[in-house]
Amino acid sequence: MVARVIPVEDFDLVIFGGTGDLARRKILPGLFHRYLAGQIPREARIVGAARSEMDAEGYRAFTREALQEFAPNSCKDGGQVEAFLAMLSYVAIDARGDGGWTELAGLMRPDVVQAFYFSVAPALFGDLAERLHGHGIATEASRIVVEKPFGRDLESARQLNRGLAEYFTEEQIYRIDHYLGKETVQNLMAVRFGNVLFEPLWNAQFVDHIQVTVAETVGVGGRGEYYDKSGAMRDMVQNHLMQLLCLIAMEPPSKFDPDAVRDEKLKVIRALDPVAPEDIVRGQYRAGEDGPSYLEEVGDPRSTTESFIALKVHVANWRWNGTPFYLRTGKRLRARMSEIVVVFKEPPHSIFGDDAGRSANILTIRLQPDEGMTLQVTIKEPGPGGMRLIDVPLDMSFAEALGESGNQMPDAYERLIMDVVRGNQTLFMRGDEVEAAWAWTDPLIAGWEARRDKPQAYHPGTNGPEDSLMLLHRDGRRWRDLEA
Ligand code: NAD
Repeated sequence: MVARVIPVEDFDLVIFGGTGDLARRKILPGLFHRYLAGQIPREARIVGAARSEMDAEGYRAFTREALQEFAPNSCKDGGQVEAFLAMLSYVAIDARGDGGWTELAGLMRPDVVQAFYFSVAPALFGDLAERLHGHGIATEASRIVVEKPFGRDLESARQLNRGLAEYFTEEQIYRIDHYLGKETVQNLMAVRFGNVLFEPLWNAQFVDHIQVTVAETVGVGGRGEYYDKSGAMRDMVQNHLMQLLCLIAMEPPSKFDPDAVRDEKLKVIRALDPVAPEDIVRGQYRAGEDGPSYLEEVGDPRSTTESFIALKVHVANWRWNGTPFYLRTGKRLRARMSEIVVVFKEPPHSIFGDDAGRSANILTIRLQPDEGMTLQVTIKEPGPGGMRLIDVPLDMSFAEALGESGNQMPDAYERLIMDVVRGNQTLFMRGDEVEAAWAWTDPLIAGWEARRDKPQAYHPGTNGPEDSLMLLHRDGRRWRDLEA
């Protein structure tokens, strides 16, 4: 099976923050991959814009290095690398200054798609929007892409939304949550809405509970100072885990159209109950053999910011009444693994008697490390000796099922940038969604701050704090093992 590549139309893409970490690791290599796949027309232009003084040649050298470092296997054909680099130019611009804008205006072509990627700190979003407008660069058809974090609470998210809305309509704004660009995440929608098998069972009558895990093995490292102001709730739950929860829990939209999908996601966020204090477990990793503790890494022995959080969440509507969603995410855990697990209820009655064993179907949707899905089904243990039941996986690893092209699934950023050029907002967050997510998150954070709640220390390389295991144990359930 070969993935189909549909070329996008000609475009000018300006990357503000074009010399930053995200541009080097994701945006530029992503564009290069799409170019190699034949999706980007040769006439397209990519303009780096950042504070550093350099010319187009300097930016090409910078990009060449980035490609060699972050996409080494794709750089074998030097001719292709150079052809891609020829599409690049650069303008030195300070988002808060007035130099460089006229030059940028001169580079933009009025008759092609125009996109501006704000790969800079959110504090600069408003300045960029204002100057793009003031210098007559942005038009009514231009698109802007903004990165996380989109605010740190409801008030700051509203301010960002208001700042952008002064110059751009909602249809022009693409708020990235790169989890939505992952192949499996979109496959979750295909599985739910493209088959008759699952949707009739996708409710509290048949689903016992759902687990969403995003586990990392790394600590905060050099991002300590930034991370300590945020924590796992703001950094991961409010955006990525919330988006996954929405896609699992939402009602079928009437069509796969940006607003139809986002309307349904918004209804899920608004249906979330507040979370009781006993249903929240926060943790901080201790020092281990291979690294310092969280407190040492952030340089504040009194920090109460969490590097781990687990929550039991209820979606208060007819479909999900009584089915809990358990969310957990953290750093320095046993394995790097992200997955969604839908645990169905056991059959109400076993015709085979208690000795045969009984178990539930489990649908696992893996986001990383190897994207794929597994459905655990119960069958008869082969051979003579009566009717004994065992669980076997119906496995669909994309890499295996799709062969070569499965291994070459576009990275989430690649897909999302192409969606921006196509003008498809389905996989981007709408302003009201982001605000609703903060409106749910803020009181939880305010609650543990008011209670002066301290995170529990946990050993690195484990499943996180003891209490997070108890969160499920006391409901007679258990987390899936963390394993890569
Ligand atoms: P970075 O610090 O590595 O780079 C910032 C870039 O912004 C540089 O190119 C710098 O020159 C430019 N810049 C800074 N001040 C400027 C100004 N006044 N005018 C013009 N340009 C200016 O940051 P990064 O890691 O690339 O992150 C960029 C954005 O993406 C941030 O909002 C970050 O939160 C977000 N983000 C980054 C990652 C990541 O993996 N790096 C992941 C998700 C989101």
